Amino acid sequence: MQDEKKPCIAVDYDGVVADTSQLKADWIRENLGMSVSPGICDRTRCVERIGTRQYNRMAKVVYGREYSLRAQPVAGLKSAIPILAKSFRLVILSARDDSNILWVTEWLQKHGLYQHFSGVISTQQRQKLETASELGAAALFDDDIRHLRGPGLTSVRRFHFDRDLPEDVRTEKQLVHVKSWHVFLQLLGKGKEVFDG
Ligand SMILES: [Mg+2]
Repeated sequence: MQDEKKPCIAVDYDGVVADTSQLKADWIRENLGMSVSPGICDRTRCVERIGTRQYNRMAKVVYGREYSLRAQPVAGLKSAIPILAKSFRLVILSARDDSNILWVTEWLQKHGLYQHFSGVISTQQRQKLETASELGAAALFDDDIRHLRGPGLTSVRRFHFDRDLPEDVRTEKQLVHVKSWHVFLQLLGKGKEVFDG
């Protein structure tokens, strides 16, 4: 059981925890004959490349149990999570629906990470920032910019995971783009200045 007194960090699942981005890129290459970087396989950027219809077709496959459990951990995740869990209460916020979110728990168990998280929550019908705010989360870490943009709720610090970023960190108004888990960990290690920033 996670310590309720620790500050909470909300973390996206697909493309941030499990590298389903690579599986999406593979599916797109095999089924559509297109080369798309895994770094832009979040819904917002991927739909711009392949369209909503093909994205939904692909997501139905990749978010199913077989593909979900095949996904590798995102680089740096396995070393970052146990360190973060010492100081923070970690919660997964995923836009997966109620059925496909089941594989998130199974995947975390498979990779020995489940005990570091205090919850796995589907936000399919809701805004992630709103849910993060209700949880009292200090931060939301997500690879899809649509979940990080929105009015108000400034108590939740917004971190955009962008593995294709040319630099380690890029700061925008209300938003910090981060290249890797390693960099995210470094930013959180600064603690107070990041959250008071
Ligand atoms: Mg994602």
